[in-house]
Amino acid sequence: MKITDIKTYVVKVSDRSSPWPWLFVEVETDEGITGLGEATDTHAAPALITAFETIKPMIVGVDPANIEEIWQRIFHTFSNINGRGFTSHLVSAIDIALWDIRGKALGQPVYQLLGGPVRDRVPLYTHIQDQRQASGPQDAYDRTKQVIAEGFTAIKTDPFNLQRRSGSDHWGADKIELLSPAAIREAVDWMDAVRDAAGPDAELMVDAHARFDTASAIAAGRALEHVNLVWYEEPVPPQNHEALRQVRENTNIPLCMGERHFTRYDYVPLFENRLVDYVMPDILWTGGISEMKRIGSMAEAYYVRIAPHDAMGPVSIVSGFHCSMTMPNLYRLECLHTWFDDFSKILDPMFKYEGDCILPSDEPGLGIALNHEVLEQYIVDPESFLRFG
Ligand SMILES: [Mg+2]
Repeated sequence: MKITDIKTYVVKVSDRSSPWPWLFVEVETDEGITGLGEATDTHAAPALITAFETIKPMIVGVDPANIEEIWQRIFHTFSNINGRGFTSHLVSAIDIALWDIRGKALGQPVYQLLGGPVRDRVPLYTHIQDQRQASGPQDAYDRTKQVIAEGFTAIKTDPFNLQRRSGSDHWGADKIELLSPAAIREAVDWMDAVRDAAGPDAELMVDAHARFDTASAIAAGRALEHVNLVWYEEPVPPQNHEALRQVRENTNIPLCMGERHFTRYDYVPLFENRLVDYVMPDILWTGGISEMKRIGSMAEAYYVRIAPHDAMGPVSIVSGFHCSMTMPNLYRLECLHTWFDDFSKILDPMFKYEGDCILPSDEPGLGIALNHEVLEQYIVDPESFLRFG
């Protein structure tokens, strides 16, 4: 079998799901088997489409079973930009598509090719709307009650309202946020309402979206300790691990990092310096199914749990599901369960889910495919979604 082409599709189904369009990648072969991947990012779609055209000569004509060799080939070709960002996005989408092709060629689900299942379903956690998009603690309480009633027991939210930040006149140059005492109090009120609605046994997480200065991150972490969180996510930006160490040494709250850490190499200092209690690689950005498995094994050796990040399109959650079926140190797979309706409009078959779990099927490969008959109506121009500042 030989790879013959790479095709890209930029798709926006509705405003009820992702605010940015999904970038799907299909790898075609001379035997009629097509592999599905995804490279969705908030801003990078136009540049990534060009990048996929750039790497075509590198992989057209190659046997798609050579998943590792192709991973290494793309990664090292762009070693002068350190194999991160655009490179790891390219690697991820192609890797996922090649695993899909391999599964279809062998008539096996991908999780069976990754060592086989260690569980019979994959538990999920979901979100309530972040505070900056909602109206206050009563809203948090009501939304949490709704999600609990839908069968979820693990919930993440961002309780920090950036509109109330103090002391800065942002022109966009400084993206490190300063949290005022009022903003921290609002965050605590928000999380107290979530805990009140969810009950004492619900598993709650707070996402800081990697945007606070170190002192704000520490102050907010301390103020939230009583909520008994599973984790406090990306309290500081990912570039400076000494800042993360400072948060760790000055708070009593489990920490999670990873959606902005790309490839196994970015995880080495997190593990070696015991900076995190959970890791959350994004399968579309960190290096695909192959790399998620490797990072999962690294985490296992440090007795750290893994919880794949997911905030993109359906290939993201489904490829994360296949890894999660096989990783013994899984915590939960992230989802935005309210997006599943939009997923089902463009997939045939759709993945199977029940309550707060995704269920395996015997479908070969990823077990999902784009429905090209309906996809046409959702194709959009990625340039029109660019928002900067
Ligand atoms: Mg996050």
